[in-house]
This record gives sequence, C-alpha cells and structure tokens, in this order.
Amino acid sequence: MSKNKNPETIALHGGDYRSDPATTAVAVPVYRTTSFQFNDTDHAANLFALKEFGNIYTRMMNPTNDVLEKRVAALEGGLACVSVGSGQAASTFAILNCCQSGDNFISSTDLYGGTVNLFTHTLKKLGIECRYADPSDPSNFEKLIDDKTRCFYAETLPNPYLRVFPIKEVSDIGRKYSIPLIMDNTASPVICKPLEHGAAVVVHSLTKFIGGHGTVIGGCVVDGGNFDWTKDPKRQPLFNEPDASYGGAVWGQVVPQLTGANVSFVVRARVCLLRDLGAPLAPDNAWGIIQGLETVPLRMKQHCSNAQKAVDFLKKHKNVERVIYPSLHEGEVGERSKKYLKGGNGALVGIEVKGGVEAGKKFIESLKMFYHVANIGDARSLAIHPATTTHSQLTEEELLAAGVTPGYVRLSIGIEHPDDIIADLEQALGASGKPNLKAVS
Ligand code: PLP
Repeated sequence: MSKNKNPETIALHGGDYRSDPATTAVAVPVYRTTSFQFNDTDHAANLFALKEFGNIYTRMMNPTNDVLEKRVAALEGGLACVSVGSGQAASTFAILNCCQSGDNFISSTDLYGGTVNLFTHTLKKLGIECRYADPSDPSNFEKLIDDKTRCFYAETLPNPYLRVFPIKEVSDIGRKYSIPLIMDNTASPVICKPLEHGAAVVVHSLTKFIGGHGTVIGGCVVDGGNFDWTKDPKRQPLFNEPDASYGGAVWGQVVPQLTGANVSFVVRARVCLLRDLGAPLAPDNAWGIIQGLETVPLRMKQHCSNAQKAVDFLKKHKNVERVIYPSLHEGEVGERSKKYLKGGNGALVGIEVKGGVEAGKKFIESLKMFYHVANIGDARSLAIHPATTTHSQLTEEELLAAGVTPGYVRLSIGIEHPDDIIADLEQALGASGKPNLKAVS
C-alpha cells in the first residue's frame, strides 16, 4: 500500500500499516508505554548495536509514531522520517544533524520568525553560524559557501512574501559541493514535494496543516534517501568520521550496510540526537496528528480553493492596499509558484489594509469568525498581525528584511464555506478602512 503514489490514499493507508499486529485494530492505536520488553539478551544487544531494528524506548521510537513517520515519509516521497516534539525541534535537529561547533550553514532570508531566532541566536551560542542568502537570486547561496558549510536551509512557501523558494536551482548548486538542501515544507504539504526537486531533507511543523485541527504540537524530519553523504567526506564529517558516542560508527557507511537503504540522516537523528537531546513526540500527540494526516490531502484542496476565492474578493476591495498570494506574483517569482505548487497555491494570504497599523489592528479586532491566533494551518480561518506578535522579537531591520510591514495582516484561510469566509472579511474590512470619502460625498 505504501507504494501507492496518490496522496489521498497514502494519507489513509501509507506507513506499512494495515491493522495493529497485536489486536487487528484498524485505527492506529496509541502505544502508551515508555519501554518495550526484549525477547532475550541477544535481542537486546542486537537492537542496541543496530544489528536489528525494533523498539527499545519511547524517547527514540514508538509504534504509534512509527506509523505517522512512515506515512509522512511516503507523502513527501522520502525514505524515512523521525518525529519530534515540535516543528522547532525538527529544524533544530535537522541542522544539528550535520553541523557542529565551528561549522556554518546557509539559510534563505525568507523564514518563520522562530526559525530566525534559533538560527541567529541560539545556534550561534553553540558555535554554529547561519549565513543568510536572499533567495530571489539562487546564486547568492553559492557566494557564501566555504569549507565549513554543511547545509542549505529554506522554506517552500514562506510568509509574508509567499515567494516560492527556488528548490531545484539551489539544490543543484548544493549538490555540486555535496551540500544538502533542507526544506521546511510546513505551509505546503501535498501541494509541493521538495524531494522531487532535489531537496535532500524535509522538515515539518506537524502542528500546522498536517495535524490540521489546532490541537497538537509536533514536528518531523524526512530523509529523502537521495543524497550521498559519503561523496565528499570532508564536507560531511558527521557522516564520515567515527562517532565516539556510538562505538565508532561511521554513519554514512554503517546505516546503508545495516538497512540496505540510504537513510543515514534519519537514523543518526534518531539514535544520536533523540537519544541525547530528548524532545520526542509523545505517542498521544502522534495519534492526534495521524487523525489530521488522514484528511490533509482533502483539506489542502479546500484550503487552496477557499484562499483563491478570498484573494479574488480582497483584490477588488477598496480598503485593501495590497494582496500577497503565490498566484499573484509576476515574473520569475510567479513562474516559481507555477513550477513548484501543484493543485493550488496554499492557504496563506497576506494583505495590507489601507490605513497602516491602526487599520490593520481594527480589521483583526472586527473579524467575527476568523480567530486571532499565532498559528497557521488550522481547519478554521485564522488571522494575525505579525509585526506585533510572531515577528515581534525581530529588530526593525530584521522585520523589514523579513517583509513584515506595519499594516501587514496574515490570513490562514480555513475550510469553512467560502461565502462565510468572504462575508467575515467583508464586514471586518468595512469596519477597518479609512472612510470611503466618495461614498459619503
Ligand atoms: N516552521 C514554520 C514554517 C512555522 O510556521 C512554524 C511555526 O509557526 C514552525 C516551523 C515551528 O513549528 P512549531 O510551532 O510546531 O514548533
């Protein structure tokens, strides 16, 4: 079943799961256990030596999480996946899995504010330098490479600009230097598959569209199985030098030998980073996310179709200065939307309400159905004013670099009836904009 290529089917049947092996339960059960009994001492020793793969301890693996991991991997067209406690943990793990103190990586400037904090401040304190490249010109990534550059990082559909990242263009540059591209595909599951365009690793905040109901925080790292970690041993020391913490294992060699698959990235993240740093996804939360995952292809269609209808309405509204949506971009950026997004342009819409900060705040406060929350990807429609919330820890300079202008409002269009979404936007815009002088004169 997991060989099936259609996302609607993978979401329900993927992950090598037909029914629970212990009980034949059809729905994936929650395995609320910390540990798993070994058959005998040889079995235990083999599991620890990675001679056999199986359950040891829920900090590293759990059968509920396993189904989620395999389904997300199949949905992304990857080979393996490891789930973690949040999207933030997923991006942290992805970087720490190839960078150590003294190394650097190159990230797109178009990033979620929390990721900017992680990259600019916390990783810097660990001795890992993030170099930022403007993705409008893919060659900017090449200019920043040196001997210590270990990976590239970007988001497929970053807000506020909603400029789709040039995945193939940048991954082609990276592959010349044995540098993998890690893509955060949180905002565009199903409608974009970065691994098909050359990315080596995908990370998700499962909290958003995949969980889809605003109930669970989670994240994951997907291994594309399409990157040769041993091609340039100096470029990827963590995969080519003996790991003293694991009996001298050379991860780039030992994992393909033991598994017959190119899944060194995810195996190392699981057996070293989850082992040492913790941050697993709780099985209850994995179960909650599976409920969302099963309908994410269906929801993405409705999110995209509703967002397009909202955009068509907003474009014509007199109190809206500007609408940002991938299908509205022109030139090369517009071409990238068409090249990389299939089946829709996502749920995120940016608007600049006429009248600046005050009008933006009034608009948000006037919304009746939309929720005012720091989230995206809920089945419900959501709105936020990033300059005073999600991006508020950035400096003014960083805010402008991230494209967060004072009056900018981010909408995450839900799956309610489109007429009701538009009606709520219409009444809130009526309350927010400058008085329509033409109408009163
Ligand atoms: N990546 C993106 C694109 C996000 O929007 C977010 C959160 O908003 C994250 C990562 C972090 O995810 P989490 O909140 O699950 O830690």
